[in-house]
Amino acid sequence: MAIRKTHIKELNDNKSIRTKRISSHSLTNSNKTKRIQLHFRYIRKIKYLMSNYVFNHIEDFLFQENKDILGNQYKQFKNQEMSAWEVQQTYQELFDKYHNSINTLKKQHKFKVQNKIKIEYYKKDTKYAKKGDIKSTKIVFKTTPLTRLMNWLIYIEKDKLDTVLKSYKENATIEANNKVKAFNDYLNKIRNNEKLWERIKALILMKQQRIISKVKRIIPKTGSYRKAYKENPNVTSVGSEVFIDHSNTQFKHFYKFKIAKKEILYLPLAYNQDFHNHFKNINLNANHYVSLNNKGQINIGLQETFIQTFEETISKEQVAGIDLNIKHNFCVINIDENYIEFDYDREFFKKQVNDLKAIDAIGYNKLSIENKRKLQKIVKRTESYFQYLVSEILDSLQNKAITEIVLEDLNLQKTGFKTFSEEFGVSYNRLVKILRLNQVKHWFKNQGNKRGIKVHFTSPCATSIECSVCHTIEKDNRRNQEEFKCIECGHTINADNQASFNIGNRIKLDVLRDRLHNYDEFGQCTPKIMSRDTIKRTIKSCYKQQSLLNGDPFTDCKGETNSKCVA
Ligand SMILES: [Zn+2]
Repeated sequence: MAIRKTHIKELNDNKSIRTKRISSHSLTNSNKTKRIQLHFRYIRKIKYLMSNYVFNHIEDFLFQENKDILGNQYKQFKNQEMSAWEVQQTYQELFDKYHNSINTLKKQHKFKVQNKIKIEYYKKDTKYAKKGDIKSTKIVFKTTPLTRLMNWLIYIEKDKLDTVLKSYKENATIEANNKVKAFNDYLNKIRNNEKLWERIKALILMKQQRIISKVKRIIPKTGSYRKAYKENPNVTSVGSEVFIDHSNTQFKHFYKFKIAKKEILYLPLAYNQDFHNHFKNINLNANHYVSLNNKGQINIGLQETFIQTFEETISKEQVAGIDLNIKHNFCVINIDENYIEFDYDREFFKKQVNDLKAIDAIGYNKLSIENKRKLQKIVKRTESYFQYLVSEILDSLQNKAITEIVLEDLNLQKTGFKTFSEEFGVSYNRLVKILRLNQVKHWFKNQGNKRGIKVHFTSPCATSIECSVCHTIEKDNRRNQEEFKCIECGHTINADNQASFNIGNRIKLDVLRDRLHNYDEFGQCTPKIMSRDTIKRTIKSCYKQQSLLNGDPFTDCKGETNSKCVA
């Protein structure tokens, strides 16, 4: 039996589901197979129609009343293959996905007030600049009671804006409730100023509309869906379930698959002696996910729920940029003004490399079975060592209240790793390949997500040659591996530090994040496909645009063109 632990984030609340997956035997009966394939194709089509429906009515999310109506539109998708409960669940899941993606976008597009532009000047003549020349410009934002209020209000539907107040929490401290009172008093005070209030409402609506316009259509890729064990607990209705048949000599574990209103298939499950141990704590008689995998087996995901604070932690984003390395260190992490370096156990690594070289000398094609096994062992040992290292790093970041990390979406083999390592006596490229170090970023993602940390990937383009002060992108900025020195402004810094700073900034700055990346449903970024030149041009123009924007943020708001005034 194939048992796998996977983690799925449930979208309608902050609970996560830990899923244990069981698979059926591969289907051999061709009629059954055809029937099942048809079923999942059909469900996928239904999901597709549901998703389109919600997406086409996305504006309804702006008004509470319309949103409630939209949330109840599952009945029109009634069909012969699913129970009413399953239709509702499937619809609700898609609805919640859209809702969640809107809320994520809201978090990323907060109101900020531009405080001032900080300009730094050269204090004395340097090789590159004269005293009094501009060294750097930086926009400084601040939050005010008004922006805090507005950042709360963008979560409120338009038709509730006039009446809504923050609610008091039971068991809250007096101090917390006093804060709520102060907030509500402030909100009421603003409401009494009719002209101001209308303007604020207009701003909120404009922002909400802009956020809504960024929502992406969800295209369901599979027909997986949630099956009901019992559709109605009060009725002895038939549902789908995993059960054990002790009287059967050939198979003991079965899935009763209710595939249509009056059609039930019994599928034997791939058997494993560990079955009882693995499933001891799992309720077999529960609602579960089903899907058809590409081996023609049915996967059944039985669930345990547990609380995970994925969204809750991100009240204030704390972003860390990570520059992965292998040469000088394992990675350098930038948090605010600080840089932390993590290295790996070089003695351990050297030993693995030496063992590897011994096998290498034989030549892969001539390897005996035992040597092949040895090779696998080395790879595994190294893998688990680096996985452990990743988890140590994530623990440390979690202790520093980091909620988001950014890594380069890089293929270590392709970048400048052709060089021969004196230390290990083999090229870095070869090391990366044999020891599968390209997996490192995936380990960060998987382990990070389990901890509730968002993991973004950004393009590796120009991260090591961009000056963080004047944003000049030039190869010559990095004359050697260790040192970064800007040919334009003379800014000098450790090269790895500089890279980790740039990597973090790609996500920290709204404009860069939006222009260079796509978002997944949890608001995690992956790089858009763009040419190197386009990326460089985009970065330059973003900084240029930033330094031009100045002025009173609460006057002259004209939507997109002046994005910094409300964004
Ligand atoms: Zn510079």
